[in-house]
Amino acid sequence: MFEATLRDLIASQITAIEAGLVVLNIEKYIPSTIGTRSFIDILAKDARGRWVLIELKRSDAASREAIHEIYKYVEAVKGHLGARDDEMKAIIVSTEWKELLVPFSRFVHDTSISISGVKISVSEPDRDIKAEFIRPLELTSGRVLSPWHEISLYTSEGRLAEGIASYDASCKAKGINDYVMVEMKASEGFYEHSVLCTAASLHGIRGGAGELTEEEIADVASKMDRLDHMIYFVPQLQTAEEYLEMIRVDPEQYEEAKEFSCQMEGDELLCSLQEYALDANPKVDRDYFEIGYPAKFRCKLLVDEAWTITKVHRRGAFARNAVLTDETILGEIEGDAGTSGQRLKRTIRLSDKAEFAQLQKDVAEALPNNPVWAGMVRAQLEEARTEFPRGTAETSIFAPSTGLMTLFFATTQEQGISYVPSYTILIRSDADVCRAYVGELLAADDAAQPPEAFTDILMKYYSGDLGSLIMSMTWGGYEARDIDMLEDLGLIYGSFRCDIQGEEREFFRMKNNRWRSVGQIDPYTEFGSYLERNERLLRIIVNKLSPRIGGAICDGSSADRQLEDSIDPVTEAKGKYHLDAPEDCDICSIPLAGETFFSDGRLQSSPEWANMCADCSVYYGEGIGWGIGQLYRKESNDRWLMVGGSSDEGDDSDDEE
Ligand SMILES: [Zn+2]
Repeated sequence: MFEATLRDLIASQITAIEAGLVVLNIEKYIPSTIGTRSFIDILAKDARGRWVLIELKRSDAASREAIHEIYKYVEAVKGHLGARDDEMKAIIVSTEWKELLVPFSRFVHDTSISISGVKISVSEPDRDIKAEFIRPLELTSGRVLSPWHEISLYTSEGRLAEGIASYDASCKAKGINDYVMVEMKASEGFYEHSVLCTAASLHGIRGGAGELTEEEIADVASKMDRLDHMIYFVPQLQTAEEYLEMIRVDPEQYEEAKEFSCQMEGDELLCSLQEYALDANPKVDRDYFEIGYPAKFRCKLLVDEAWTITKVHRRGAFARNAVLTDETILGEIEGDAGTSGQRLKRTIRLSDKAEFAQLQKDVAEALPNNPVWAGMVRAQLEEARTEFPRGTAETSIFAPSTGLMTLFFATTQEQGISYVPSYTILIRSDADVCRAYVGELLAADDAAQPPEAFTDILMKYYSGDLGSLIMSMTWGGYEARDIDMLEDLGLIYGSFRCDIQGEEREFFRMKNNRWRSVGQIDPYTEFGSYLERNERLLRIIVNKLSPRIGGAICDGSSADRQLEDSIDPVTEAKGKYHLDAPEDCDICSIPLAGETFFSDGRLQSSPEWANMCADCSVYYGEGIGWGIGQLYRKESNDRWLMVGGSSDEGDDSDDEE
């Protein structure tokens, strides 16, 4: 049915939409100063004398963007009719609501005017209209789903089924009603590949020379479960009060949660409360656990490891909302909407002022901690609009704001580059791409970072506490001070431009707020050479962090504190100093000058010995004791005193005084 036909049909049966409505105009012209199209499909008045704007959306296509048009009408009508917000309301009418629901719900959440959604169907042959009101999704701060997820892994299909049942039971007991469980299966050969990778890294850590042996691989395989089944669990985001209510079932957890909840705020508070709520008894049955977050779902699970989604289990509001598609839900989990502050994807017509204004606003929202890129993207969109007024702009921003962790992900993940912040704006005129804007992390200069950089960052941002850095992994490594931190590591948020005309390419780099012509640029080469140059810094970061961030575990404990337990007063009293203390840790190569402890000890299940910083001592060393390892502590005179692991008798060795 044509839009005009449908519109006239609705106008003739307007009371089917709402009792008491009276049609004033069809295709009412509103002289608008801000919009492109200035016709309201139907202008009506309701029983209370309010203006009613009825906007028709006939198809599903492009509706995510189309919903923004309503902003335009509302503004125009307010101006034209001199109406206040409370004197008007809008009704969006559509036959299809699948793709409209999420943007509609956000719109309802964000606007102060009264707006409702109606799904209509037309019965043939009488052409009677049946209308059904659409319930918007409950949103907290513009979000549908929580950005903090859970990954539960299982050894068999049977265990997976038990896992699903236990999730349902656990959620029911706590009053968690609305959630999604994405059932996934590992790709062919995934387990064998993981065994090989683990064996190889153990081989490396133990300082093994030569090829990895069959025995080593078999040994890892015997200790590693095959975990081919996964539940990716995502609950609806709740308010702090609602979370506390859920935790109430577990009195012990409740007291604890209530106590710390007054010391936190914002996302950190919500993230911790959600964790408490999910951890409260009764617990979920699982064989292995990991934390999840939007970038991990997309980059690691779906792209890197190629898991297959076998089923999307929807509960509560997600099950009731039949018009919400699985695709939309999966898009939300990946953080599509930009409201997770990580990702924004949208195509607009540069000539459409409302679309343009909305995108400018959303860019700022998607880049809350990155004024550099927010400013560049907005200026570049303006520039493109001036030069290609009839073109389209396809914008894609990925800004995870992960600070120091950015370097960790870039190095340790298989497709590390997909964890690195970037953006592209493709400008098309007449279907062909005529310009591309690209945002990338660039090295500030060609110098390598000093090896102390890691310790310095830790001191400056986390008061020297590795634990606080590690705990940021609980919410996906998100770090509001990201831009400062990366700058301290010699990385800046930069931007390139490429003008395309036929086969010809011209490149520019943004410098001091203007474009400078440069030679050919390949994506990520600058960042890649930064990684190469700073191989040592990366080795330190990876060795310090990876043993503490193994899947489920976020071990935020202090290695220094653990080593303090190994201090033995007898050894200490001997007053023996290390005569020729090493400069760096043999394992991670961190300079020992910035450390409190180091040990000279044997590596776990290996005959090799090494000088190790505190962290490496705890994770890779056999322990402290005679014949295993000696512990040294830096004294105020900057010398290293042996404080643990000497023999009970007299002299231990000859390199101490
Ligand atoms: Zn070390």
